[in-house]
Amino acid sequence: MYWDPKMECMPKEELKKMQYESIKKLVNNLYEFNQFYHDRMKAANIHPSDIKSLSDVSKLPFMYKQDLRDNYPTKMFTVPNEKVVRYHVSSGTTGKPTLVGYTRGDLDYWSEALARSMTSIGMNSSDTLQVSYGYGLFTGGLGAHYGGERIGATVLPSGTGGTERQIELMVDLGVTAIACTPSYLIHIGEVAKKMGVDIRRDTKLKRALVGAEPWTESMRQHIEEDMGIKAYDIYGTSEMAGPMFTECEERNGIHMQSDIVYVEIIDPETGEVLEPGQKGEMVVTMLKKEAFPLVRYRIKDITSIIDEDCPCGRTSPRIKRITGRSDDMLIIRGINVFPSQVEYTLMQIPQVGNQYMIIVEREGSLDKMTVQVEIKEESFSDKLDDMIKLQKYIEYEMKKYLNIAVNIELKNPGELPRFEGKAKRVIDKRVM
Ligand SMILES: [Zn+2]
Repeated sequence: MYWDPKMECMPKEELKKMQYESIKKLVNNLYEFNQFYHDRMKAANIHPSDIKSLSDVSKLPFMYKQDLRDNYPTKMFTVPNEKVVRYHVSSGTTGKPTLVGYTRGDLDYWSEALARSMTSIGMNSSDTLQVSYGYGLFTGGLGAHYGGERIGATVLPSGTGGTERQIELMVDLGVTAIACTPSYLIHIGEVAKKMGVDIRRDTKLKRALVGAEPWTESMRQHIEEDMGIKAYDIYGTSEMAGPMFTECEERNGIHMQSDIVYVEIIDPETGEVLEPGQKGEMVVTMLKKEAFPLVRYRIKDITSIIDEDCPCGRTSPRIKRITGRSDDMLIIRGINVFPSQVEYTLMQIPQVGNQYMIIVEREGSLDKMTVQVEIKEESFSDKLDDMIKLQKYIEYEMKKYLNIAVNIELKNPGELPRFEGKAKRVIDKRVM
C-alpha cells in the first residue's frame, strides 16, 4: 500500500529532475534573500547560476552544526516570525542548543512524510499507535503523533516514563503499534515480564517504529524474538524536522523520500562525494523546508546509499542502517571504534543481555576501554570459574572484532542504569 503512489513511485529520472528544480529555486532564493547563505556562497566563490545539474550541488559549500549554534536563535530563519508556528530545541552537550522553527508548511510535509512511512510498513486507520517518544522540545513525540493522526490511526500520546501504566494501557486499548527508542522498547519488554504481561499473548502489538538512537540488526532480532513483533527503523534528525523516514516492509534500508530530501554521502575527511554503496558521512539538502532551510548540511551520521530498485516499488533512494556518528567515533590508542561495533559484538554472544556501558579513560598515557555487560539471568553462575571463562571469552571476541584490547566487567541482570529517553552508553572520562 502507498500513501501517495504518484510521488512514491515516480520514475527515477523524473524524481531527479524534480529535485534539481527544487534545489535551483532554493539556492536562488537563499542567495538573494538570506545573508548567511549569500555570504557562505560568496566565500566559496559559487553563484546560483553555477548549479546546472543535480551533480553540481556538490559545488555548494557545506553547512555545519556549528553554523546553527553561531546563528542561534533565529538568525538562519528565512521567514518572519509571524509565519513560524512552532519551535523545537535539541540540547547539545557543548555550547548553545539548536533551535528549529517550523511554518505550517513545514509541519505539513513532516506529517506527510510520516504518513507515507507508516503506510509503507503496513499501518492504516485501523491501527492504535502508542507514541512513547518524548513529547516536548524533542521532535520524536509530536512527529509520530501527527503522522499517526494523518493516516487516521488512533494515537495514544503516552510519552516516556510511567512504564507500568503504559503497559496497562497497551493491553486495555489494544495498541497495535508503538513508536519509541530501542532502549525504551527493551525496557518496556523487561517491565512487562515483571508485571506478568506477555506481549505476544496479552497485547495486540504488531509493529514498532524504532529510532532516535543508533541500534543494530542484532538488537532488532532480540526485540523481535522477545516480543513477537516487527521492529522498523525510523530516521530523521531535529534539524531535518524530526524522525520521519522509515524502512518499507522489505526492511532493507530507509527510503529517503525524494521530494523532501536530497542525500549525498561524502568522505568525512576530504568532503568528496562518494558512489552508491560506499560508506561515508551523510549530507542532506532539504527541499521543502520553509522556516529553516538546510543546504548540504553535514549530519555526521555514517551510512551508504543503496542504489538498486526496491521490490516495494518506491523509487526513492534508500540509506543503510546508520552505523554510527562521525562525532561518536571513539579513538582508542589510535584505532577508530564505534559504539555500535561494541554492541554488535556483544549481541553475538548468547549469554549477554541487552544492557551495556562503555567507559573510556586514560591510565598514564594509555587509553583504557572497559565494557560493563549485563549477563542474562539464566546464564548467571555461582561458580567463579564459569564467570571468569565467560569474561575472557567476551574479551577475546572484542579483541578479534575491534582490534584493541577491551576489559570486560560482568554485571548482574538489572544492575546497569535503564534509559527512558535516549540511552547514554558511553562515558569518555578523557574529555571530562
Ligand atoms: Zn521499499
